[in-house]
Amino acid sequence: MTDRYAVFGNPISHSKSPLIHAEFARQTGQELVYEAIEAPMDDFRGAVLAFRDAGGRGANVTVPFKEQAYLLAGERSERADAAGAVNTLTFADGEIWGDNTDGAGLVNDLLNNLDFDPAGQRILLLGAGGAARGVGLPLMEREPAELFVANRTAYKARELSARFDCYGGGFEALEGRRFDLVINATAASLAGDLPPLPEDIFMRGALAYDMMYGRDTPFLAFARAHGARTADGLGMLVEQAAEAFAIWRGVRPQTAPVIAMLRNA
Ligand code: NDP
Repeated sequence: MTDRYAVFGNPISHSKSPLIHAEFARQTGQELVYEAIEAPMDDFRGAVLAFRDAGGRGANVTVPFKEQAYLLAGERSERADAAGAVNTLTFADGEIWGDNTDGAGLVNDLLNNLDFDPAGQRILLLGAGGAARGVGLPLMEREPAELFVANRTAYKARELSARFDCYGGGFEALEGRRFDLVINATAASLAGDLPPLPEDIFMRGALAYDMMYGRDTPFLAFARAHGARTADGLGMLVEQAAEAFAIWRGVRPQTAPVIAMLRNA
């Protein structure tokens, strides 16, 4: 029987994951099917267990179920524990193993596609929601000179920074600070908003990274206007998928051609 995988979310019809994994499978000669499944808001667990019991080998999990996936997993990776969220489930020997590949996706996008090594750099992470939680530990593992977490609701930034052993606070705490990399992990771009950033937040040659993809955002426009290099989150999306594919299949697909394909689509 062909190995089955799926991504669970709600809504899910917009997901690019089936296309990305089909491309990885073609590229690496793996035989598998990967579908998008809309889990009911009140029964994520039931939907995942039904998929597993029907022969599913693994699943990705997206908004709004990553915290529920964390609770569903019997065993978890250190980076999933640090995030308190799971985006990759593997079903084997009656066990459910949970991992979080979002942070590795971001770090690999920086290293492989954007020629930016976080090591020794001053990094600002905007936001303290699911996306920010997923990337904190993998960023700290690269040993940046500084990681600062800033969030609209300041106490959440302080909580998160305590977890990652770095600094954090409200946006007002950014006054007078400058960074080599500014990552927008807030949902502000979804609403067409710009987090309130000081005009001089970017160091010379800085990179501005918006986790959102698919359209230009006020954050990226602000960054361009202040001389920063910019990147959207499409590379992170493909890289987190590649990390999940490698966990499941033991082979690492090439990401650059898939990112290029999605950009041209
Ligand atoms: P959450 O809902 O978990 O968190 C939202 C965060 O954004 C909170 O910190 C919230 O602050 C902040 N926020 C919301 N609106 C505003 C605003 N108008 N101004 C300033 N801050 C705001 O969302 P996620 O963490 O799941 O997702 C965040 C973004 O990351 C989304 O755009 C999502 O699409 C993207 N993403 C991209 C991925 C990729 O692979 N490229 C992977 C995962 C996410 P507060 O605490 O004050 O409410």
